Amino acid sequence: MLTQALSRLPGLGPRSARRAVLHLLKKRETALKPLLAALGAVDDRLATCSLCGNIDTSDPCGICTDPRRDARSLCVVEEVADLWALDRSRLFPGKFHVLGGRLSALEGVRPEDLTIDALVRRLSEGGIDEVVLAMNATLEGQTTAHYVAERIEGYPVRVTQLAHGLPVGGELDYLDEGTLAQALRARRPLA
Ligand SMILES: [Zn+2]
Repeated sequence: MLTQALSRLPGLGPRSARRAVLHLLKKRETALKPLLAALGAVDDRLATCSLCGNIDTSDPCGICTDPRRDARSLCVVEEVADLWALDRSRLFPGKFHVLGGRLSALEGVRPEDLTIDALVRRLSEGGIDEVVLAMNATLEGQTTAHYVAERIEGYPVRVTQLAHGLPVGGELDYLDEGTLAQALRARRPLA
């Protein structure tokens, strides 16, 4: 049962799931019990941030409520995993907006399926100077970036995009921090 459940997680095949289960059983006190406690807490408290779409144990999330972050700079990403990747790198001092996916004719994802209206609303409230479009360097990611740029045209914000040192089809979550840092540092106005 546990092996099956674990093997359905991304990045874990049946073999690594079996190894994880064996490890948990051998290390009940130091591995199994802390994991159970953490999973229980997550199940009770996990929430989607109503401001940015991040997943955290509070709403608004820890990033949105962090006074040390620069609220004038907003980084728009496709998925929560991308937010976490950028946040892990600690390179972006501002706040985030999670779209919840990317436009895709193939998969039938339309603008109204993403949180683009919410993004426009955040901009219309003012106080934001820069929007960094950090979509993946895939065709769909770039289509989404251009669509978002069109929708926020007319607001007094500088719209920049991650630099394309990024591998085509590369997903932010898989990039090492050096590559991410470079992409952020070299961000430039959307062409
Ligand atoms: Zn948030």
